[in-house]
Amino acid sequence: MAEFTLELNDDQKQVKEWLHGFAADVIRPAAAEWDEREETPWPVIQEAAKVGIYSLDFYAQQFFDPTGLGIPVAMEELFWGDAGIALSIVGTGLAAVGVLANGTEEQIGTWIPQMYGDADDVKVAAFCSSEPDAGSDVASMRTRAVYDEAKDEWVLNGTKTWATNGGIANVHVTVAVVDPDIGSKGHASFIVPPDTPGLSQGQKFKKHGIRASHTAEVVLENVRVPGHCLLGGKEKLDERLARARERAKAGGERVKNAAMATFEASRPAVGAMAVGTARAAYEVALDYAKTRSQFGRPIIDNQGIAFQLADMRTRIDAARLLVWRASWMATTGKPFTSAEGSMSKLYASETARDVTAQAIQILGGNGFTREYPVERMHRDAAIYTIFEGTSEIQRLVIARTLSGMPIR
Ligand SMILES: Cc1cc2nc3c(=O)[nH]c(=O)nc-3n(C[C@H](O)[C@H](O)[C@H](O)COP(=O)(O)OP(=O)(O)OC[C@H]3O[C@@H](n4cnc5c(N)ncnc54)[C@H](O)[C@@H]3O)c2cc1C
Repeated sequence: MAEFTLELNDDQKQVKEWLHGFAADVIRPAAAEWDEREETPWPVIQEAAKVGIYSLDFYAQQFFDPTGLGIPVAMEELFWGDAGIALSIVGTGLAAVGVLANGTEEQIGTWIPQMYGDADDVKVAAFCSSEPDAGSDVASMRTRAVYDEAKDEWVLNGTKTWATNGGIANVHVTVAVVDPDIGSKGHASFIVPPDTPGLSQGQKFKKHGIRASHTAEVVLENVRVPGHCLLGGKEKLDERLARARERAKAGGERVKNAAMATFEASRPAVGAMAVGTARAAYEVALDYAKTRSQFGRPIIDNQGIAFQLADMRTRIDAARLLVWRASWMATTGKPFTSAEGSMSKLYASETARDVTAQAIQILGGNGFTREYPVERMHRDAAIYTIFEGTSEIQRLVIARTLSGMPIR
């Protein structure tokens, strides 16, 4: 029986230190520039590729850490550096996980290397699920994939939105409806290979935060992909669809909204990103409060400031513990019987939003300017309560799981 410990092992400590060094020396100094430019920070991604942080090997190593803490520790450090740049670095990993989770060995071996490229020619990948009318309500997805048996090709038509790296990606992992009668059970994921005709970028969004990360619409017009681009393969899909149709016919199992069910295991990773941003803002605020003097003494000498910092740090540590618990549960195969994945994302994302706002307040006028990083951190933190399921959806998942009631 393993001993209970919350201490990182030596390997994890080393990775954490290495990533912290990269975040402090490479990411943080570049943060303000790429936020202003609102462009993908290709040179920083390339730098990350050179040292081995932007690679499948690195991501897989953290993903398969048997304690579950590999990904949360990595996310916290990179996002401590800067959220927009870090998302540009890990965005491909989120698409790669879609392939790792659902693809065959051959698909993993073929497509994931093309998602990353190499240090001399880095590439990125996108995961395209959300649509203009299917955000939280994933079951309303309209993008259709129709099988052309004669050619053994799938034909994709529809519009995706909010895709991180959408349109600039080498490989787009795209979710589409293959059977509209069974809700989200009738969805399947496809690889759209590089330079496939019919895929184009729609509008690129000008955002409030994480502005170094590219977010855009992806338009699919008669996009034809070979049969082998269906993740998991046709046989597995046919079996899965047959089971789902059977259950739908029997009226037994309610066809779940995929937004409620999927991503539960990946949500702690978003929680860890939020912890990184919150910790970064807290550290700036603590340092400022110790050095800024008013009324003849450092502002931290006032309980009004010191107590805020105490609360900020307490919430950050509590958020990290929830994230670690959920990551450990997901990796060790413990079911989320109380929606622990959603709890971690909900608490960490709202902590980041609140702590970054408090940091602005503690810095006073300086906090409100772009001379200091906390206003950027606050703008960045707003994303965590929105993507991978909004706070409202997390509360819905938690409340439904705890009560067993179909709360709406
Ligand atoms: C910067 C950014 C990057 C993103 N990256 C990706 C990506 O790479 N790939 C991808 O597929 N998607 C991505 N998304 C999409 C993201 O996951 C969605 O924006 C999110 O799921 C919310 O969907 P929506 O924007 O359509 O909001 P809506 O679903 O329209 O929600 C609007 C509001 O209504 C609330 N609401 C909705 N339903 C309920 C309910 N039942 N009960 C209570 N409140 C409810 C929501 O909580 C929210 O407050 C990204 C989004 C952003 C902003």
